[in-house]
Amino acid sequence: YAKERGKNTFQFYTHAMTQSACLHLMLETQLRRALERDEFTLAYQPIVDLATGKINRLEALLRWHNQELGDVPPATFIPLAEETGVIKAIDAWVLRQALNQLKRWQEAGHGELRIAVNLSGQALVHQNLADRVAALLEETGVAAHSLELELTEGVLMRNSSAPLESLKRLKELGLTLAIDDFGTSHSSLSALRRFHLDTLKIDRSFITDLPGDQDSAAIVRALVGLAGNMRMAVVAVGIETAEQLAFLRELGCGLLQGFLFSRPLTPLEVAELLARGPMVPPDIAT
Ligand code: C2E
Ligand code: MG
Ligand code: MG
Repeated sequence: YAKERGKNTFQFYTHAMTQSACLHLMLETQLRRALERDEFTLAYQPIVDLATGKINRLEALLRWHNQELGDVPPATFIPLAEETGVIKAIDAWVLRQALNQLKRWQEAGHGELRIAVNLSGQALVHQNLADRVAALLEETGVAAHSLELELTEGVLMRNSSAPLESLKRLKELGLTLAIDDFGTSHSSLSALRRFHLDTLKIDRSFITDLPGDQDSAAIVRALVGLAGNMRMAVVAVGIETAEQLAFLRELGCGLLQGFLFSRPLTPLEVAELLARGPMVPPDIAT
């Protein structure tokens, strides 16, 4: 009866088989075949420039639709892909796909547009990551400065010396690096000091209770200030209400991402949105 529910079967399976070895095995088996069966797609979520209302960059977000399992969220399958090593092939696919797509938008007249791609922890420990990224940039004809790689602080702090070297080489290519989910681990500030990162992405959990919650407000205010003082770009993630946006505008938070502006979109939807010009959420209109 799960099958009848079609696309959204995954919710059913999670309830029925949470933690079960059966689900785990099924996920793993299907995940191993997902690439060759062409079951992945990328959705693209706009990140909007506060000053202009224009889409500054798009974050590529991986989607997996499987016949048996329905839509499986990345929070479920990415950790499994890391565990099983499948992530290496997935990372390469995502990067190539995202760069090819960006190239198409740029050629359609949006040359300033950038793309942000999430990188797994595994990617960083491959010594030849920078070489592989350089090869993909070359292959797709995308300029390095059009690419931002997003890393979580967990990933950055997980292992000792490998990332530092790897990140240095990536930056030498001319791309930029973002720290994602900022503020959610115990080592956020150490990560900031240790690595020279370009962009700070404030975790959605700090945005959710704005502007009413005094603690969230104080933290976000401090983080926007911190990013400014460190000459980093700052992105607020998870903006859903006009009140949250008003607060962030007041603070001068440079880049904005959230359902208020747009959900993750198909490439066609992105093209349509780009053609319409600057984004005008309710609050920016006035
Ligand atoms: P993330 O990189 O922090 O991505 C932001 C997540 O927040 C996305 O979830 C996005 O859909 C969601 N989001 C954005 N704005 C809003 C909002 O206003 N409200 C709410 N409720 N949610 C919002 P998604 O697509 O489910 O991705 C979850 C995580 O999976 C990502 O978090 C990222 O860590 C990971 N991920 C996604 N794609 C990839 C990928 O290609 N490679 C790797 N390694 N990880 C990926
Ligand atoms: Mg991200
Ligand atoms: Mg996040």
